[in-house]
Amino acid sequence: MRIAMISEHASPLAVLGEEDAGGQNTHVAELAAALVGEGHDVRVYTRRDSPTLPDAVSTPDGYHVCHVPAGPARRVPKDELLPYMGEFGSWLADTWRREGWTPDVAHAHFWMSGLATVHAGRRTGVPTVLTYHALGTVKRRHQGARDTSPPGRIGYERTLGRAVDRVVVQCSDEVAELVRMGVPRSRMALVPSGVNQHVFQPDGPAAPRDPARPRILTVGRLVERKGFLDVVRALPAVPDAECVVVGGPPAELLPADAFARRLRALAESCGVADRVKLVGGVPREEMAGWYRSADVLVATPWYEPFGLTPLEGMACGVPVIGSNVGGIADTVVDGLTGDLVPPRDPRALATAIRRILTDKMRRFAYATAALDRIRSRYSWKRCAEQLSAVYAAVATVARPARAVA
Ligand code: UDP
Repeated sequence: MRIAMISEHASPLAVLGEEDAGGQNTHVAELAAALVGEGHDVRVYTRRDSPTLPDAVSTPDGYHVCHVPAGPARRVPKDELLPYMGEFGSWLADTWRREGWTPDVAHAHFWMSGLATVHAGRRTGVPTVLTYHALGTVKRRHQGARDTSPPGRIGYERTLGRAVDRVVVQCSDEVAELVRMGVPRSRMALVPSGVNQHVFQPDGPAAPRDPARPRILTVGRLVERKGFLDVVRALPAVPDAECVVVGGPPAELLPADAFARRLRALAESCGVADRVKLVGGVPREEMAGWYRSADVLVATPWYEPFGLTPLEGMACGVPVIGSNVGGIADTVVDGLTGDLVPPRDPRALATAIRRILTDKMRRFAYATAALDRIRSRYSWKRCAEQLSAVYAAVATVARPARAVA
């Protein structure tokens, strides 16, 4: 099949760890590669956010990335991209018609891509699929007045849930959330993300570490909701251990990063500054080495639409302590492949970390069970197979393109 993937702000070619570059970029890159592996012809459409980007790039994984000239040719925070989605959608429709490459299905990632995709789908008759990746209702609940999403987001997301041919959800929590929003369960297909088990595996080089000090690793974009402040708050109750934080801007830019400064100041005031190490963002190829260097991965966000980092840690044979939210509540089986703790609860987190760091047998048992779980359920191939079935089902509902003046 010809598959268009639309990911307006998250390019599969981006360097990760910075504010708007994380799981969605990885997801789109890995999924596109896995779909090519299933024999599909895949093009990813993302915004041209630099004047130096070429119109199109062919990747070694066999998919193509097309840079869409919608909005300014520079990086813009994703919450400011809404005004350009009409332009994005029109460009897609025109290009598909002009170039004679009309997809059999268009899969949008994130609600704004959904708007552009539905717009293009209506003009061309191409069936549409949407993965939200994150929901405005959840963000609003947790961030309140600090939520920078455009005001209409929740309404658009609700409308999109009925406008697309299928909604791909990633975890049971998201199903419940969408049902509460009025999206019919019958329109949803539950397909969790995968993890690249060639890259993330127990064998291979590990980042250097002090063998005398237990290592707690925590990974992600340096934003408050990822829960890094809670990990630092837990640290005084976990004697001796060091906490390594991977993510954010590259190391040399950390001193200028407001959240990194806040994290350091908190570590000072908790008396653990000598045990907190901020590494900064690292390229995807180096991530496995960081996971392998750890005794435990802590992934305790306030909320998490899916959460790739627990899967990556599990695939590297590292026990995970996760917060009992979103996708993590599905991927980590409490007491079997890891521990689940309530979000924003440094005391419960400290207890769980102490227990796991002092119990080698438990760490071994969790890591072994986690590897089994990853191998049986979370490959990108499995994800691509399941999505191929979804695409095949929606591709049979071809509609006439709506005439456009
Ligand atoms: N990541 C990376 N370098 C970093 C920090 C993170 O490559 O310095 C990757 C990480 O391996 C994972 C993704 O970014 O694949 C983060 O995904 P997750 O779903 O955990 O969080 P999101 O960014 O979607 O909130």
